[in-house]
Amino acid sequence: MQVLATEKELRAALCGATSVGFVPTMGALHEGHASLLRTSRAQNKISVLSIYVNPTQFGANEDLAKYPRTLEADLEIAKREGVDIVFTPDNSVMYPEGFATSISVGPIAEPLCGRFRPGHFSGVATVVTKLFQLVQPTRAYFGQKDLQQCLVLLRLVKDLNMPVAICIEPTVRETDGLAMSSRNRYLSAEERIQALVLYKALKHGEDLFRKGERRSAVIVAEARKIIEASRAYELQYLELRSYPDLKAIETIDGPAAFAVAAFLGKTRLIDNLIF
Ligand code: AMP
Repeated sequence: MQVLATEKELRAALCGATSVGFVPTMGALHEGHASLLRTSRAQNKISVLSIYVNPTQFGANEDLAKYPRTLEADLEIAKREGVDIVFTPDNSVMYPEGFATSISVGPIAEPLCGRFRPGHFSGVATVVTKLFQLVQPTRAYFGQKDLQQCLVLLRLVKDLNMPVAICIEPTVRETDGLAMSSRNRYLSAEERIQALVLYKALKHGEDLFRKGERRSAVIVAEARKIIEASRAYELQYLELRSYPDLKAIETIDGPAAFAVAAFLGKTRLIDNLIF
């Protein structure tokens, strides 16, 4: 496994490569990332993992400074999963002096997380575009946990004719159902127990849907009660939207995404289910 930090080294290592799988991450790897790496390895000749905490996707009051950085443990996981190349650029490689271009993705980036994290998806689209230019992957792997991110990137590669397949993989969960996240490391023992409430609320909504309920206001209101009963949360959004275009819906008459974001203490958690 090669660990490379510069554009020149990366381009040399990938020169002439066909069938390149790519898993972009911000590190602090967990089983969710590992499952993306396994899929990449199974479907491509070469697998590239990037580890880069991208400052342009963090808001001014967000957790950029304290975002977990665990490079040694990450490299162990990468080795175990058979990664060929780990790309670990620093800010001077990704945003050299004078950097001025950014990508805005339009309406798909506006609702849900877009409302609460202005500029976030532009930062994501810009850094992913740069990484795609560097790695030139055949396929790139993303987790459904960050559903809106996946949809933004599908729009991006379509609109800009990028020759890469975006592969959306299922959310990996802890045995009790909590969606794995690098940010779960911030949770205290008590918060870890409370953290499950979001998934329970989404599942309750899914149950109602399975039993025939189609009014989104009813499903949202019932699920919201579960979150509000816990009192530990500051809810940002709990919404049912059409999938994959994320339009507001009154009734469910096709695929729909049930998505939530909330602060549990200082930790922002997100999750979603697709009906
Ligand atoms: P991050 O390092 O949090 O930016 O995530 C890197 C990639 O891993 C993104 O495509 C995420 O959607 C994906 N990912 C994060 N958590 C999970 C999870 N629990 N299950 C599946 N994929 C995940």
